[in-house]
Amino acid sequence: MKKIVITGGAGFIGSHVVRHFVKKYPEYQIFNLDALTYAGNLENITDIENEPNYTFVKGDIVDADFIDILFEEHQFDGILHLAAESHVDRSITDPLSFVKTNVIGTMNLLNAAKTIWKDNMEDKRFYHISTDEVYGSLGAEGLFTENTSYDPNSPYSASKASSDHFVRAYGETYGLPYVLTNCSNNYGPFHFPEKLIPLFINNIIQNKPLPVYGDGRYTRDWLFVEDHAVAIDLVFHAGVNHDTYNIGGFNEWQNIDLVKLLCKIMDEKLGREAGTSEQLISYVKDRPGHDLRYAIDATKINKELGWKPSVTFEQGLEKTVNWYLENQTWLDNITSGDYANYYEKQYN
Ligand code: NAD
Repeated sequence: MKKIVITGGAGFIGSHVVRHFVKKYPEYQIFNLDALTYAGNLENITDIENEPNYTFVKGDIVDADFIDILFEEHQFDGILHLAAESHVDRSITDPLSFVKTNVIGTMNLLNAAKTIWKDNMEDKRFYHISTDEVYGSLGAEGLFTENTSYDPNSPYSASKASSDHFVRAYGETYGLPYVLTNCSNNYGPFHFPEKLIPLFINNIIQNKPLPVYGDGRYTRDWLFVEDHAVAIDLVFHAGVNHDTYNIGGFNEWQNIDLVKLLCKIMDEKLGREAGTSEQLISYVKDRPGHDLRYAIDATKINKELGWKPSVTFEQGLEKTVNWYLENQTWLDNITSGDYANYYEKQYN
Protein backbone atom coordinates (compact mmCIF):
# COMPACT_ATOMS: atom_id res chain seq x y z
CA MET A 1 0.00 0.00 0.00
CA LYS A 2 1.48 3.33 -1.03
CA LYS A 3 -0.79 6.38 -0.87
CA ILE A 4 -2.86 6.93 2.22
CA VAL A 5 -5.14 9.80 3.11
CA ILE A 6 -5.87 10.46 6.78
CA THR A 7 -8.82 12.81 7.32
CA GLY A 8 -8.94 15.02 10.43
CA GLY A 9 -5.19 14.73 10.92
CA ALA A 10 -4.92 18.19 12.49
CA GLY A 11 -7.31 17.20 15.27
CA PHE A 12 -6.61 15.44 18.52
CA ILE A 13 -6.55 11.72 17.64
CA GLY A 14 -5.84 12.35 13.95
CA SER A 15 -2.59 14.19 14.74
CA HIS A 16 -1.33 11.20 16.72
CA VAL A 17 -2.33 8.84 13.91
CA VAL A 18 -0.63 10.98 11.26
CA ARG A 19 2.54 11.22 13.36
CA HIS A 20 2.54 7.45 13.97
CA PHE A 21 2.11 6.60 10.27
CA VAL A 22 4.57 9.21 8.95
CA LYS A 23 7.28 8.04 11.32
CA LYS A 24 6.65 4.31 11.13
CA TYR A 25 6.04 4.00 7.38
CA PRO A 26 8.55 6.17 5.48
CA GLU A 27 7.71 4.16 2.34
CA TYR A 28 4.07 5.37 2.42
CA GLN A 29 2.94 8.73 1.12
CA ILE A 30 0.70 10.16 3.83
CA PHE A 31 -1.81 12.89 3.00
CA ASN A 32 -3.44 14.74 5.87
CA LEU A 33 -6.81 16.12 4.73
CA ASP A 34 -8.31 18.58 7.18
CA ALA A 35 -10.61 21.62 6.97
CA LEU A 36 -8.94 23.23 10.01
CA THR A 37 -12.18 23.92 11.86
CA TYR A 38 -11.99 25.32 15.41
CA ALA A 39 -10.75 21.83 16.46
CA GLY A 40 -8.05 21.50 13.79
CA ASN A 41 -4.66 22.89 14.66
CA LEU A 42 -1.48 22.53 12.61
CA GLU A 43 0.49 23.21 15.80
CA ASN A 44 -0.40 19.61 16.72
CA ILE A 45 1.91 18.25 14.02
CA THR A 46 4.75 20.71 13.57
CA ASP A 47 7.29 17.95 14.32
CA ILE A 48 6.48 16.03 11.13
CA GLU A 49 5.44 18.82 8.75
CA ASN A 50 8.71 18.70 6.79
CA GLU A 51 8.94 14.94 6.46
CA PRO A 52 9.27 13.89 2.79
CA ASN A 53 6.43 11.34 3.04
CA TYR A 54 3.95 13.89 4.42
CA THR A 55 1.60 16.30 2.64
CA PHE A 56 -1.05 18.54 4.20
CA VAL A 57 -4.18 19.29 2.18
CA LYS A 58 -6.65 21.85 3.48
CA GLY A 59 -10.14 20.88 2.42
CA ASP A 60 -13.69 20.18 3.51
CA ILE A 61 -15.04 16.62 3.24
CA VAL A 62 -18.54 18.10 2.84
CA ASP A 63 -17.48 19.47 -0.56
CA ALA A 64 -18.14 16.48 -2.84
CA ASP A 65 -16.59 18.02 -5.96
CA PHE A 66 -13.38 18.83 -4.12
CA ILE A 67 -13.18 15.30 -2.69
CA ASP A 68 -13.84 13.67 -6.08
CA ILE A 69 -11.09 15.71 -7.74
CA LEU A 70 -8.61 15.02 -4.91
CA PHE A 71 -9.25 11.27 -5.03
CA GLU A 72 -9.11 11.17 -8.82
CA GLU A 73 -5.79 13.01 -8.80
CA HIS A 74 -4.09 10.92 -6.10
CA GLN A 75 -5.72 7.48 -6.47
CA PHE A 76 -5.36 6.71 -2.77
CA ASP A 77 -4.93 3.06 -1.74
CA GLY A 78 -6.16 3.59 1.79
CA ILE A 79 -8.35 6.02 3.72
CA LEU A 80 -8.26 6.47 7.47
CA HIS A 81 -11.29 8.58 8.19
CA LEU A 82 -11.21 10.57 11.44
CA ALA A 83 -12.51 14.00 10.39
CA ALA A 84 -15.65 14.75 12.35
CA GLU A 85 -17.50 17.17 14.50
CA SER A 86 -16.70 15.47 17.79
CA HIS A 87 -18.04 17.37 20.78
CA VAL A 88 -21.37 16.18 22.25
CA ASP A 89 -22.25 19.58 23.78
CA ARG A 90 -21.80 21.31 20.43
CA SER A 91 -24.02 18.67 18.78
CA ILE A 92 -26.83 19.65 21.14
CA THR A 93 -26.71 23.31 20.09
CA ASP A 94 -25.92 22.73 16.39
CA PRO A 95 -26.93 19.20 15.31
CA LEU A 96 -27.04 19.99 11.59
CA SER A 97 -23.32 20.67 11.34
CA PHE A 98 -22.81 17.14 12.71
CA VAL A 99 -25.02 15.68 10.00
CA LYS A 100 -23.11 17.63 7.37
CA THR A 101 -19.59 16.61 8.36
CA ASN A 102 -20.17 13.22 9.98
CA VAL A 103 -22.81 11.84 7.62
CA ILE A 104 -22.57 13.73 4.31
CA GLY A 105 -18.78 14.09 4.63
CA THR A 106 -18.41 10.34 5.17
CA MET A 107 -20.73 9.66 2.22
CA ASN A 108 -18.58 11.86 -0.01
CA LEU A 109 -15.47 9.91 0.95
CA LEU A 110 -17.25 6.59 0.41
CA ASN A 111 -18.47 7.68 -3.02
CA ALA A 112 -15.04 8.93 -4.05
CA ALA A 113 -13.37 5.69 -2.87
CA LYS A 114 -15.97 3.59 -4.68
CA THR A 115 -15.31 5.52 -7.90
CA ILE A 116 -11.52 5.30 -7.92
CA TRP A 117 -11.54 1.64 -6.80
CA LYS A 118 -14.33 0.48 -9.14
CA ASP A 119 -12.05 -1.62 -11.33
CA ASN A 120 -9.82 -3.01 -8.61
CA MET A 121 -10.68 -3.25 -4.92
CA GLU A 122 -7.78 -5.54 -4.07
CA ASP A 123 -5.46 -4.26 -1.33
CA LYS A 124 -7.64 -1.20 -0.86
CA ARG A 125 -9.09 -0.22 2.49
CA PHE A 126 -11.57 2.32 3.85
CA TYR A 127 -11.14 2.57 7.61
CA HIS A 128 -13.81 4.41 9.55
CA ILE A 129 -12.82 5.50 13.06
CA SER A 130 -15.88 5.68 15.28
CA THR A 131 -17.00 5.88 18.87
CA ASP A 132 -18.53 3.60 21.52
CA GLU A 133 -21.21 6.26 22.01
CA VAL A 134 -23.16 4.71 19.10
CA TYR A 135 -24.17 1.89 21.49
CA GLY A 136 -26.04 4.25 23.81
CA SER A 137 -25.94 3.91 27.56
CA LEU A 138 -25.18 0.98 29.86
CA GLY A 139 -26.62 0.40 33.32
CA ALA A 140 -24.33 -0.49 36.21
CA GLU A 141 -23.49 -3.87 34.65
CA GLY A 142 -22.36 -5.15 31.24
CA LEU A 143 -20.00 -4.11 28.47
CA PHE A 144 -20.40 -3.04 24.84
CA THR A 145 -19.34 -5.80 22.46
CA GLU A 146 -19.18 -5.68 18.67
CA ASN A 147 -22.65 -7.29 18.66
CA THR A 148 -24.33 -4.69 20.90
CA SER A 149 -27.23 -3.01 19.07
CA TYR A 150 -26.83 0.63 18.14
CA ASP A 151 -28.88 2.94 20.37
CA PRO A 152 -27.43 6.47 20.07
CA ASN A 153 -28.78 9.20 22.35
CA SER A 154 -27.03 12.44 21.33
CA PRO A 155 -26.99 14.14 17.92
CA TYR A 156 -23.22 13.43 17.89
CA SER A 157 -23.61 9.69 18.47
CA ALA A 158 -26.58 9.54 16.09
CA SER A 159 -24.47 11.10 13.34
CA LYS A 160 -21.58 8.69 14.00
CA ALA A 161 -24.01 5.74 14.08
CA SER A 162 -25.42 6.86 10.76
CA SER A 163 -21.97 7.10 9.19
CA ASP A 164 -21.05 3.65 10.57
CA HIS A 165 -24.19 2.23 8.92
CA PHE A 166 -23.33 3.84 5.59
CA VAL A 167 -19.81 2.39 5.71
CA ARG A 168 -21.25 -1.08 6.31
CA ALA A 169 -23.90 -0.58 3.64
CA TYR A 170 -21.24 0.37 1.07
CA GLY A 171 -19.38 -2.80 2.01
CA GLU A 172 -22.46 -4.97 1.54
CA THR A 173 -23.95 -3.18 -1.47
CA TYR A 174 -20.88 -2.26 -3.49
CA GLY A 175 -18.26 -4.60 -2.03
CA LEU A 176 -16.25 -1.63 -0.74
CA PRO A 177 -13.39 -2.97 1.40
CA TYR A 178 -13.76 -1.47 4.86
CA VAL A 179 -12.91 -1.89 8.53
CA LEU A 180 -14.56 -0.05 11.40
CA THR A 181 -13.60 0.54 15.01
CA ASN A 182 -15.61 1.90 17.93
CA CYS A 183 -13.40 3.32 20.63
CA SER A 184 -13.93 4.67 24.13
CA ASN A 185 -12.89 8.13 25.40
CA ASN A 186 -9.34 9.11 24.49
CA TYR A 187 -7.07 11.42 26.47
CA GLY A 188 -3.51 12.66 26.03
CA PRO A 189 -1.42 15.49 24.57
CA PHE A 190 -2.98 17.88 22.01
CA HIS A 191 -6.50 17.27 23.35
CA PHE A 192 -8.66 20.32 22.70
CA PRO A 193 -9.46 21.99 26.05
CA GLU A 194 -13.24 21.76 25.71
CA LYS A 195 -13.03 18.04 26.62
CA LEU A 196 -13.06 16.93 30.25
CA ILE A 197 -9.41 16.11 31.07
CA PRO A 198 -7.67 19.05 29.32
CA LEU A 199 -10.47 21.41 30.38
CA PHE A 200 -9.91 20.51 34.01
CA ILE A 201 -6.10 20.61 33.78
CA ASN A 202 -6.37 24.09 32.28
CA ASN A 203 -8.92 25.28 34.84
CA ILE A 204 -6.85 23.95 37.75
CA ILE A 205 -3.80 25.82 36.44
CA GLN A 206 -5.90 28.99 36.21
CA ASN A 207 -7.79 28.46 39.49
CA LYS A 208 -11.13 28.39 37.65
CA PRO A 209 -14.17 26.29 38.67
CA LEU A 210 -14.25 22.63 37.55
CA PRO A 211 -17.77 22.16 36.09
CA VAL A 212 -18.94 18.59 36.86
CA TYR A 213 -22.22 17.54 35.22
CA GLY A 214 -25.07 16.28 37.46
CA ASP A 215 -23.90 14.25 40.45
CA GLY A 216 -20.59 13.32 38.79
CA ARG A 217 -21.48 9.62 38.72
CA TYR A 218 -21.28 9.27 34.94
CA THR A 219 -18.87 6.50 34.04
CA ARG A 220 -16.51 6.42 31.08
CA ASP A 221 -13.74 4.14 29.88
CA TRP A 222 -10.49 6.02 29.14
CA LEU A 223 -7.73 5.16 26.68
CA PHE A 224 -4.37 6.91 26.17
CA VAL A 225 -4.44 8.37 22.66
CA GLU A 226 -1.08 6.89 21.57
CA ASP A 227 -2.43 3.43 22.38
CA HIS A 228 -5.40 4.19 20.14
CA ALA A 229 -3.03 5.14 17.31
CA VAL A 230 -1.26 1.78 17.67
CA ALA A 231 -4.61 -0.05 17.60
CA ILE A 232 -5.59 1.88 14.46
CA ASP A 233 -2.34 0.86 12.77
CA LEU A 234 -3.01 -2.81 13.63
CA VAL A 235 -6.60 -2.78 12.43
CA PHE A 236 -5.68 -0.93 9.25
CA HIS A 237 -3.05 -3.51 8.34
CA ALA A 238 -4.33 -6.73 9.90
CA GLY A 239 -8.05 -6.27 10.57
CA VAL A 240 -10.42 -8.59 8.73
CA ASN A 241 -12.19 -7.01 5.77
CA HIS A 242 -15.80 -5.95 6.55
CA ASP A 243 -15.23 -6.41 10.26
CA THR A 244 -15.69 -4.24 13.36
CA TYR A 245 -13.46 -4.03 16.44
CA ASN A 246 -14.13 -2.37 19.76
CA ILE A 247 -11.16 -0.53 21.27
CA GLY A 248 -11.06 0.34 24.96
CA GLY A 249 -8.76 0.90 27.88
CA PHE A 250 -10.17 -1.67 30.33
CA ASN A 251 -10.27 1.43 32.50
CA GLU A 252 -13.62 2.66 33.82
CA TRP A 253 -13.86 5.81 35.95
CA GLN A 254 -16.74 7.73 37.42
CA ASN A 255 -16.25 11.37 36.43
CA ILE A 256 -16.05 12.61 40.00
CA ASP A 257 -13.34 10.08 40.94
CA LEU A 258 -11.36 10.99 37.85
CA VAL A 259 -11.63 14.68 38.68
CA LYS A 260 -10.44 14.06 42.23
CA LEU A 261 -7.46 12.02 40.97
CA LEU A 262 -6.60 14.82 38.56
CA CYS A 263 -6.86 17.39 41.37
CA LYS A 264 -4.47 15.30 43.47
CA ILE A 265 -1.90 15.00 40.66
CA MET A 266 -2.17 18.71 39.88
CA ASP A 267 -1.74 19.75 43.52
CA GLU A 268 1.48 17.73 43.61
CA LYS A 269 2.74 19.09 40.29
CA LEU A 270 1.92 22.70 41.13
CA GLY A 271 3.28 22.44 44.66
CA ARG A 272 -0.11 23.32 46.14
CA GLU A 273 -1.37 22.06 49.45
CA ALA A 274 -3.27 18.73 49.17
CA GLY A 275 -7.00 19.35 48.64
CA THR A 276 -6.58 22.84 47.12
CA SER A 277 -7.77 21.96 43.60
CA GLU A 278 -10.73 19.88 44.83
CA GLN A 279 -12.21 23.09 46.20
CA LEU A 280 -12.68 24.22 42.59
CA ILE A 281 -15.19 21.41 41.88
CA SER A 282 -18.56 22.89 41.00
CA TYR A 283 -21.60 20.74 40.12
CA VAL A 284 -23.46 22.15 37.12
CA LYS A 285 -26.80 21.43 35.42
CA ASP A 286 -26.76 18.06 33.70
CA ARG A 287 -26.29 17.62 29.98
CA PRO A 288 -29.63 16.63 28.34
CA GLY A 289 -29.74 12.97 27.21
CA HIS A 290 -26.57 12.25 29.19
CA ASP A 291 -25.55 8.57 28.91
CA LEU A 292 -24.93 7.05 32.33
CA ARG A 293 -22.15 4.63 31.52
CA TYR A 294 -19.99 3.49 28.60
CA ALA A 295 -17.73 0.48 28.93
CA ILE A 296 -16.00 -1.45 26.20
CA ASP A 297 -15.27 -5.13 25.89
CA ALA A 298 -12.02 -5.06 23.88
CA THR A 299 -11.49 -8.84 23.98
CA LYS A 300 -11.81 -9.30 20.22
CA ILE A 301 -9.01 -6.93 19.20
CA ASN A 302 -6.92 -8.32 22.04
CA LYS A 303 -7.40 -11.97 21.02
CA GLU A 304 -7.38 -11.55 17.23
CA LEU A 305 -4.78 -8.82 16.77
CA GLY A 306 -2.85 -9.00 20.04
CA TRP A 307 -3.54 -5.37 21.00
CA LYS A 308 -3.76 -4.08 24.54
CA PRO A 309 -3.07 -0.67 26.11
CA SER A 310 0.62 -0.10 26.86
CA VAL A 311 0.18 2.33 29.76
CA THR A 312 -1.93 2.32 32.91
CA PHE A 313 -4.32 5.21 33.49
CA GLU A 314 -2.05 6.66 36.18
CA GLN A 315 0.94 6.57 33.77
CA GLY A 316 -1.08 8.04 30.90
CA LEU A 317 -2.51 10.79 33.07
CA GLU A 318 0.93 11.66 34.40
CA LYS A 319 2.28 11.94 30.84
CA THR A 320 -0.72 14.05 29.86
CA VAL A 321 -0.46 16.45 32.80
CA ASN A 322 3.29 16.85 32.21
CA TRP A 323 2.66 17.59 28.55
CA TYR A 324 0.11 20.34 29.33
CA LEU A 325 2.38 21.90 31.92
CA GLU A 326 5.29 21.91 29.44
CA ASN A 327 3.17 23.24 26.57
CA GLN A 328 1.46 26.26 28.06
CA THR A 329 1.94 28.24 24.84
CA TRP A 330 -0.05 25.65 22.88
CA LEU A 331 -2.82 25.93 25.47
CA ASP A 332 -2.68 29.75 25.57
CA ASN A 333 -2.85 29.99 21.77
CA ILE A 334 -6.05 27.94 21.78
CA THR A 335 -7.77 29.38 24.82
CA SER A 336 -7.22 32.95 23.65
CA GLY A 337 -8.89 32.32 20.28
CA ASP A 338 -12.38 31.29 19.21
CA TYR A 339 -12.54 28.76 21.98
CA ALA A 340 -12.64 31.56 24.54
CA ASN A 341 -15.95 32.81 23.08
CA TYR A 342 -17.42 29.32 23.07
CA TYR A 343 -16.29 28.78 26.65
CA GLU A 344 -17.97 32.00 27.78
CA LYS A 345 -21.31 30.92 26.27
CA GLN A 346 -21.14 27.35 27.60
CA TYR A 347 -20.06 27.85 31.20
CA ASN A 348 -20.82 31.45 32.19
P1 NAD B 1 -11.25 16.52 16.92
O1 NAD B 1 -12.50 17.32 17.02
O2 NAD B 1 -10.12 16.80 17.83
O3 NAD B 1 -10.68 16.62 15.44
C1 NAD B 1 -11.50 16.58 14.31
C2 NAD B 1 -10.68 17.06 13.12
O4 NAD B 1 -11.52 16.96 11.96
C3 NAD B 1 -10.23 18.52 13.22
O5 NAD B 1 -8.88 18.61 12.85
C4 NAD B 1 -11.12 19.24 12.25
O6 NAD B 1 -10.50 20.38 11.65
C5 NAD B 1 -11.40 18.16 11.22
N1 NAD B 1 -12.67 18.39 10.51
C6 NAD B 1 -13.88 18.68 11.07
N2 NAD B 1 -14.79 18.85 10.11
C7 NAD B 1 -14.16 18.66 8.92
C8 NAD B 1 -14.58 18.70 7.58
N3 NAD B 1 -15.85 19.00 7.25
N4 NAD B 1 -13.69 18.43 6.61
C9 NAD B 1 -12.40 18.14 6.93
N5 NAD B 1 -11.94 18.11 8.19
C10 NAD B 1 -12.81 18.37 9.18
O7 NAD B 1 -11.74 15.00 17.03
P2 NAD B 1 -11.01 13.77 17.73
O8 NAD B 1 -11.37 13.76 19.16
O9 NAD B 1 -9.61 13.72 17.31
O10 NAD B 1 -11.80 12.56 17.05
C11 NAD B 1 -11.37 12.04 15.79
C12 NAD B 1 -12.30 10.92 15.37
O11 NAD B 1 -12.29 9.89 16.34
C13 NAD B 1 -13.76 11.37 15.24
O12 NAD B 1 -14.31 10.72 14.12
C14 NAD B 1 -14.41 10.89 16.51
O13 NAD B 1 -15.78 10.60 16.31
C15 NAD B 1 -13.61 9.63 16.78
N6 NAD B 1 -13.51 9.25 18.22
C16 NAD B 1 -13.09 10.16 19.14
C17 NAD B 1 -12.95 9.78 20.47
C18 NAD B 1 -12.43 10.74 21.51
O14 NAD B 1 -12.39 10.39 22.70
N7 NAD B 1 -11.97 11.93 21.15
C19 NAD B 1 -13.26 8.47 20.85
C20 NAD B 1 -13.70 7.56 19.87
C21 NAD B 1 -13.81 7.97 18.55
